[in-house]
Amino acid sequence: MTSPALPDPDARWLAALDRTASQRVLRERVEAAWSLCREVHDTLPRPAVWLDLRGKAAGQAHFGRGGLRFNPVLYDENRHPFLVEVVPHEMAHWLVHHLADGHRARPHGREWRTVMRELFGIAPRTTHAFDTARSSPAPHRYRCACREHAFSARRHAQARRGRAYRCRHCAQTLVYQGSVGV
Ligand SMILES: [Zn+2]
Ligand SMILES: [Zn+2]
Repeated sequence: MTSPALPDPDARWLAALDRTASQRVLRERVEAAWSLCREVHDTLPRPAVWLDLRGKAAGQAHFGRGGLRFNPVLYDENRHPFLVEVVPHEMAHWLVHHLADGHRARPHGREWRTVMRELFGIAPRTTHAFDTARSSPAPHRYRCACREHAFSARRHAQARRGRAYRCRHCAQTLVYQGSVGV
């Protein structure tokens, strides 16, 4: 394992930035990651960047829209690990997709792992450990006999007013278990 190719951002400096400045830093990080990828694939198009992702996912490479989406709530709460890991993670998807036959590669397959290790110099992890309580749009937990269900605030309010919801799989009425992060 080599050392990370992109510089390590100072965590205290990052935490002290206001939201606008921190989002500018995110965009600069994407630009730096893209430049690095251009060293091995010089026709790689520049991805657009959106901070419009909600829910549990930290980032997403959206090939149809032509860019990378990031979760602004998770970024705000996890700035340092986000820059160090999530930006290279999504940029590696972007690069692999644009390689010859890359669109046929498995999402976190050999090609993606190689880019993470060899180009970015970081361990290729496929999941993050961020707390998604605030970013998740469905923080209300319900249970049936077979699984847990996550309700949005709107659905939860309807259930509280007496509307019964049944599980599509086991047909049991869902029972409220509590809410996370609200
Ligand atoms: Zn991924
Ligand atoms: Zn069920």
